[in-house]
Amino acid sequence: MAMLKFKKQSFIIASHKKLLCFCLASTASAAANMAELTTPQLNSQNTQLRERLEIPSPCYLDPKYVISLLISSIKLSQIRQIHSQVVIHGMLQNLNVANKLLYIYSQHKAFGDAYKLFSEMGERDAITWSVIIGGFAKVGDYIHCFGIFRQLIQSGAPPDNYTLPFLIRVSRDRMNVLNGRIIHNIVFKHGLESNSFVCAALVDMYAKCKVIKDARQLFDKFPCRDPVTWTVMIGGYAECGNACESLVLFDSMREEGVVPDKITMVTVVSACAKLGAMHKARLVHDYVFENNFSLDVILGTAMIDMYAKCGCVDSARSIFNQMKEKNVVSWSAMIAAYGYHGHGRKALDTFSMMLSSRTLPNAITFVSLLYACSHAGLIEEGLRFFSLMLDEFSVRPNVKHYTCMVDLLGRAGRLDEAISLVESMTVEKDEGIWVALLGACRIHGHIDLAEKAANSLLKLQPHNAGHYVLLSNIYAKAGRWKNVAKVRDLMSQTRLKKVPGWTWIEVDYNIHKFSSGDETHPCSKEIYEKLKNLNEKLELAGYVPDTNFVLQDVAEEIKVGMLYSHSEKLAIAFGLIATPVGSPIRITKNLRVCGDCHTFSKFVSAITQRVIIVRDSSRFHHFKDGVCSCGDYW
Ligand code: ZN
Ligand code: ZN
Repeated sequence: MAMLKFKKQSFIIASHKKLLCFCLASTASAAANMAELTTPQLNSQNTQLRERLEIPSPCYLDPKYVISLLISSIKLSQIRQIHSQVVIHGMLQNLNVANKLLYIYSQHKAFGDAYKLFSEMGERDAITWSVIIGGFAKVGDYIHCFGIFRQLIQSGAPPDNYTLPFLIRVSRDRMNVLNGRIIHNIVFKHGLESNSFVCAALVDMYAKCKVIKDARQLFDKFPCRDPVTWTVMIGGYAECGNACESLVLFDSMREEGVVPDKITMVTVVSACAKLGAMHKARLVHDYVFENNFSLDVILGTAMIDMYAKCGCVDSARSIFNQMKEKNVVSWSAMIAAYGYHGHGRKALDTFSMMLSSRTLPNAITFVSLLYACSHAGLIEEGLRFFSLMLDEFSVRPNVKHYTCMVDLLGRAGRLDEAISLVESMTVEKDEGIWVALLGACRIHGHIDLAEKAANSLLKLQPHNAGHYVLLSNIYAKAGRWKNVAKVRDLMSQTRLKKVPGWTWIEVDYNIHKFSSGDETHPCSKEIYEKLKNLNEKLELAGYVPDTNFVLQDVAEEIKVGMLYSHSEKLAIAFGLIATPVGSPIRITKNLRVCGDCHTFSKFVSAITQRVIIVRDSSRFHHFKDGVCSCGDYW
């Protein structure tokens, strides 16, 4: 409520703003530090101010006028000056004035002034508490936020539905579910659980803290769910990686007659992007247009990303073309979309168009651009942009830019340059850069460098099984079986955090999810039969299962068996059964696609005359007629 009042007032006084600012700025420059001025000096300045504003003196004492002056103040020194006047005229007792002063201080992040004023206030109301707690919450000052909240509880005043969400959000940002539960208890005690602000904040807190079950429980219990609560719950599922459920919830929301707002649509669009569900994406797209949502930069950019991640780069471009207003984020999203799909030239053309439209590129634009160059093998162009970004656009390269460059040089076999680039880096190295280097070593069979990169990587992330697998694959490729065995020993000694592999496929608007060796699907029998059938045909065509990609100490035939039922293969087999002949098969994998599944997909695309589009954690692979768009480099 407090915020709303301020907004209205600032609107009313907007026309006076320029005049007031001018007057105040000139007086403020004369009084850098009001605290040191004596009362006669203050009075004289007050008179001066009144004269310049051409206002009769009693008017200046009107609380409404003081408030409007406060809102129009740009500089902190002006606010302090008005504060002094307020004190002199004994107006601090006016709670409206004091609260507004408190609010303006916190808006200017002058928390020293705000806290001092708060401590001196004789009277406080609900607005006072929510302004001071909210101010500290917004800058993430957890200690003051909770400290003052404790004072509020001790004072016996009841916390309200404005103050509590601040504390819930601070708990969320700190991922401190324990504190969140304490606040939830207080909410319950004061009967505020059915307040939509408070409920939405709690659902959001539980979801972001990954306690999605508690979020859902609260959501289900809540009697009057508004678009905000629905959106928070839909977003919560998407964030936890359960984007399937978020889309189901979006359908239920409409079935219950709740009308989604723009934020709901952005959330749903992002959920589709995460899932790579192309048909769902089209439905959401239709919904957006049928309900006349304006394609502004936020929704438009989210839709570009959605189509790009669903494997439809042309649809992404069509959305981009329809957007009346574009900002640097929209342009970067379009460049990234071309990059994912290996359309390097189109990414470069888009970048030129962006410059012509007088939009300045930022760090994200250059990540998208360098990624596009590296994934399309545009080596010289990539090198040129890398040197250009700082020299011409003052964008300092960060670790992500360096990673793209290592990938780019690695692809070209220029490993020495890649390693000297890594060595020359002044920014902190992360696992991404070592993964890129290791990937380059794998392609070019560079064992010594691979060991160096792997050691750095394992130092950073000793519990990531994927890194061991990469190193082992490199040794296996070089036939160094003793080293392969060593890596296996290391793996069994270390407590490894294996991320389970999943592959999704969307058929008839339903998402089918497969894990490796999965037999839970209703069509499991047909899927395995199809796979057996396929493998026979594939082997006749020259496909040899590459057991190097199985990192377990098992007999060769078991290894083949394990490879055979990788989640990608199960999803592709199901796609062949469940989709019309000749239609493309789109699958999404949460990890990088393995080398054997990559070879398998190439053969399947040739034998079945189907286009297979695989989105893995790093890029898109378009398989057609036995060839992949990535050129076997990923
Ligand atoms: Zn595989
Ligand atoms: Zn590929």
